[in-house]
Amino acid sequence: MKKIFIALLGISVLSLPIRVSAAQKVPLLIYHSIAEYSGTGSKELYVTPKNFEKQIVYLRDHGFTLLTFEQWNESVTVKKPIFITFDDGYKNNLNVFTVFQKLQTREFKPKGTIFVISDFIGRPNRLTSEDIKRITDSGLMSIQSHTSTHPDLTKSDKLTYELKDSQEKIEKITGKKVIAIAYPYGNTNKRVVTETKKSYLYGLTTTPGPYTPSGIKNELYLLPRTYIKYSTTIDEFAKIVEGE
Ligand SMILES: [Zn+2]
Repeated sequence: MKKIFIALLGISVLSLPIRVSAAQKVPLLIYHSIAEYSGTGSKELYVTPKNFEKQIVYLRDHGFTLLTFEQWNESVTVKKPIFITFDDGYKNNLNVFTVFQKLQTREFKPKGTIFVISDFIGRPNRLTSEDIKRITDSGLMSIQSHTSTHPDLTKSDKLTYELKDSQEKIEKITGKKVIAIAYPYGNTNKRVVTETKKSYLYGLTTTPGPYTPSGIKNELYLLPRTYIKYSTTIDEFAKIVEGE
């Protein structure tokens, strides 16, 4: 009897899914401008459209699934999940849309998230309401919030305006829920997280590294992101996304 019990126990342990022990690492990438460097501002905040296309081709050819935050729960079920994000809502992010349209196939659906500063919509060099509506309607881009005016939230006394009002303004344009916020400069603290939780499901920092679920409090409001820079080579890119 005892022998049978031990044998059964052995079988049940062996049949447990292997995934249980290995928590999936999810890379979240951060970009700003997708354009040739214009000579103004920091060069490292640019990635040329040609390099960006190479990077997305890499993801396509290596079996990645590009997700937006509406699909967060799929990050535990899909093959090689990754989030591609763009901060500040530059007009040149339309180049992202062009690359995505070019590279999409029946099997590969490239998707990305642009974090716009809602009071800057329509300013020179920024996306307009019409741009935003058009690219969200395509299903390839999700537009989320990067606050109303891009302050350091840890020093701001207008958190309702920066968080909730920004969310409402963007939702009016897209007709879709805004559920994620990228903290300007990646800065957040306990007070900011508490306020963010009233309106959002996800908060993104610029702390480098992939996301690994750890069960720590507020981990979805402290999501890490790794910069892809002008100087990032395709080999370095591969290491970042493969978690090496
Ligand atoms: Zn920013």
